[in-house]
Amino acid sequence: ILSEDLINRIAAGEIIERPANIVKELLENSIDAGANRIVIEIKDGGRKVIQVTDNGHGMKDEDLLMAFERHATSKICTTEDLYRINTLGFRGEALPSIASVAKVEVFTKEPGNNVGNYLRIEGGDLKKIQQMNCSAGTCILVRDLFYNTPGRHKFLKSISTENHFIVEVVLRYILGYPELQFTLINNNRVVLKTPESSTLEEAAKMAFGAEAENQLLEVNFNAEDYPLRIRGFLSRPVLNFPKSTNVYFLVNRRYIRSKMLLAALLEGYRGYLMVNKYPAVVLNLELNPELFDVNVHPAKTDVRFENEKAVYAELLKAISQALTRSHSFLETPVNIEREKPSCSPSGSAQQALFLSNEGATSDGATRLSGHIPLRPDFKPETVTEHLSFSKARIIGQFKSSFILCEIGDDLLLIDQHAAHEKIMFETLREMYMTGSGSQPLLIPVVKEFPLPVKNALLERREGLSRAGLVIEDFGGSSLRILEIPAFVNQKEVEVLFSILKQEFVENCDLFKEEMIKVIACHRAVKNGDPLREDEVAALLKGMEKLKNPFFCPHGRPVVQKIGFKAVERLFGRT
Ligand code: ADP
Ligand code: MG
Repeated sequence: ILSEDLINRIAAGEIIERPANIVKELLENSIDAGANRIVIEIKDGGRKVIQVTDNGHGMKDEDLLMAFERHATSKICTTEDLYRINTLGFRGEALPSIASVAKVEVFTKEPGNNVGNYLRIEGGDLKKIQQMNCSAGTCILVRDLFYNTPGRHKFLKSISTENHFIVEVVLRYILGYPELQFTLINNNRVVLKTPESSTLEEAAKMAFGAEAENQLLEVNFNAEDYPLRIRGFLSRPVLNFPKSTNVYFLVNRRYIRSKMLLAALLEGYRGYLMVNKYPAVVLNLELNPELFDVNVHPAKTDVRFENEKAVYAELLKAISQALTRSHSFLETPVNIEREKPSCSPSGSAQQALFLSNEGATSDGATRLSGHIPLRPDFKPETVTEHLSFSKARIIGQFKSSFILCEIGDDLLLIDQHAAHEKIMFETLREMYMTGSGSQPLLIPVVKEFPLPVKNALLERREGLSRAGLVIEDFGGSSLRILEIPAFVNQKEVEVLFSILKQEFVENCDLFKEEMIKVIACHRAVKNGDPLREDEVAALLKGMEKLKNPFFCPHGRPVVQKIGFKAVERLFGRT
């Protein structure tokens, strides 16, 4: 049987990889203690000092020492409790683990008591415990992380990287608990402070940065087929990022990572976003604790849902609804001026927080320069709301590629290929997804493939034939194509070759959609094709009929607009 110290260090290995993990555990404890003001202080990326002070219910005299015992928790008691967890902590591991790899001091007092308690513990050894005067609540000070485990210390990253992780953790709790006040102080400088009580929307804007202003769609979704409620905010497709760093899923307010939820999210955004782009999202899934399990990993950031399929389906519905609503309701974009969160930096919170003061001068500099400032707002805006395209006044075609027209106060630029492609795509999809069989090729086509691809295609032969594509082995590395879907022209067989790749044929529905995509792309007018005015008018009419004409099947934007005001400003007229 391992010694107590060793057991704690092993547990620490699982939950404490870096300072941010300690911040996480301490924040959870403060939130569980009912605090509404929490101050986090760090020095040197948390390697030297992490201090979390809260105004929660504190610890009883007899509990203080016990809290550092392994598996000591005040949050659950029976096995049943494990299935109805409504606190962030429940494993009773954090404090002993932290104390085994750092120097820890605690000041704690229950609000009603005159005197509090103090404890100091280093590398798992109790150094001091005594009564002490302190303010109500708890303050835990963690110094010299990994001072006794040099092997771990070595793996810490640069101070700025560790800072980055810490801000990220704090943001997760701000999003989960926007009504609490969080203050983050780095090397004696306040880098983040939330108002005493924010809404989730304010918290989201703070996390996503100034760009998110007017770009967030509210989600308030009560699932009908599963006891699940989803609330939060999604960015309009125009606000997107190359990574999923601005995607926050919370389950009963606990931040969690989930490939399944991310997959549902991207599926919901399909057709709205380019591949490899991610929206900014914060969504809280509220469901009965019995319907999922957080006791999957000691770090408590993974969950297992009792019914993954249902959760996936409902999340997908919630997202699709919010995105569809966004372009049917907003005939004219609403521009509500809201008070900005007091600490909202421009750019994402992450980028700005640890920059020095340099950033602050840029605004002043433009004002002093004497030139007509080229306003940063002169940026065409991707249109994602319905406009009566057919009523637009057509100005003409630019470089035989882009249609220029005006609607109300806006100048629109339309990518003719993307627009036509989308119309084609939707028309074909409607016809083809609901059935329509295949047709034999008048002259079967023989085509060579790399062997692994050929074999994969043969393996999927049945699925392909359900999608209307009948192939057979033709010896060597060749395949013979016998039948093609009815909607494909006999002369378009070649076009299909580009998608006869392993990754596309895995899933029959996806494969159908890929076929429709490439045919739509092939048939659409090209950039560079001159169009007559009646052709342009027909295109605009086609766009108006679509539910989502705003993005082409590959996710590229179709329409950009520039407001009259912005053009006036460009010429210094306002
Ligand atoms: P867990 O959170 O899983 O219960 P921890 O090791 O994080 O385990 O904490 C052990 C116990 O210490 C908690 O159950 C709680 O009773 C007490 N505790 C820790 N931090 C605080 C705090 N900030 N305020 C009040 N009590 C606390
Ligand atoms: Mg805890």
